[in-house]
Amino acid sequence: MLEVACEEKRKLPVINFPFMEKYGIFCGFTSRSGGLSRNGYRHLNLAYHVGENTGTVYKNRRLVLDAIGSASCELLSSRQVHGNNIIHIGSSIENHGGDIPIEADCLITGRADTPLMVMGADCSLILIADIEKKIIAALHAGWKGTFEQLTIKVLDYLKDRFKCRAHDMLAFIGPCIRKCCYTVGQDMIKNFSYRFGNTEHIITGKQRHHLDLAGLNISMLVNGGLSPGNIRDCNICSCCDERFYSYRRNKTTGRHGAIIEIRS
Ligand SMILES: [Zn+2]
Repeated sequence: MLEVACEEKRKLPVINFPFMEKYGIFCGFTSRSGGLSRNGYRHLNLAYHVGENTGTVYKNRRLVLDAIGSASCELLSSRQVHGNNIIHIGSSIENHGGDIPIEADCLITGRADTPLMVMGADCSLILIADIEKKIIAALHAGWKGTFEQLTIKVLDYLKDRFKCRAHDMLAFIGPCIRKCCYTVGQDMIKNFSYRFGNTEHIITGKQRHHLDLAGLNISMLVNGGLSPGNIRDCNICSCCDERFYSYRRNKTTGRHGAIIEIRS
C-alpha cells in the first residue's frame, strides 16, 4: 500500500509522505518540474557537478527549500562518487550553498532542521528514518553502490553507532531506473549473480539481461530487519517517466533529489 502524494506547492511538485509528519520528519522526492534550469537540465536540476551554472542550481535549491517549508536551511549534499563512504553530520559542517566538499554517497544526521539530500538520474535514492531515535539517512546507490551493498553498510552503521533498531526504521525508495529499462551486459549479470545468488531481481534473457536495483536494495533492507510494510517504494521508473531525470535517456541531464529532514 503506497501513501505517495504529489503536492503542488508553488507549482513545484514533491512526492512526499504526509503520514511522516506525526513523527516530525519530512521526506520527499523532487522531479524535473518547478525550477529555472534550461536546455538539457530543465527545469529543476539540483546538482552542482553536472556542468550547469552553479547560480541557477543554487536558486533551484532555494525554491525547493521554500516549497518544503525549510527556507532557513541549506540542502546538504556530498560529492557523490558511487562509493560507500558515509558522512555523519553531528554539528554544523562546512558547505557552499549546501555542497559539502567531501566524497560520500550517504549522509546521516540526528540534528533537526538539517535537510539531507542525495541526487540521481536513474540511480537508486533511498531515505531511511528511525522514528524512535530520530536519526535519518539519505543514500545514493547506482549499480556500483548496490553491488557494494551500501544499503547494508548504512543499516549496520545506524545500528552500531546509534543503537537504531530495525523495527523503528522506515525506508523510502525514490524514482530510479527500473528493471523495465535497465538492460545490462553479461559480465554485470555474472558478477551480480555471484554476489547475490539466484534472485528474481537479476533477470537473464536470451538477448537482453535486466537488473532490478530497487528490488536488490529492498531485499537488503528486509534482510537488515526492516518490515516490508515499513518500506515505501514510489515504483516510478526514471527512464520511462519523463517527469524525472534519466542519464540513460539523456546523456546531458540534471539530477532530481531525495530529501529527508528532522523538523524541530
Ligand atoms: Zn522503465
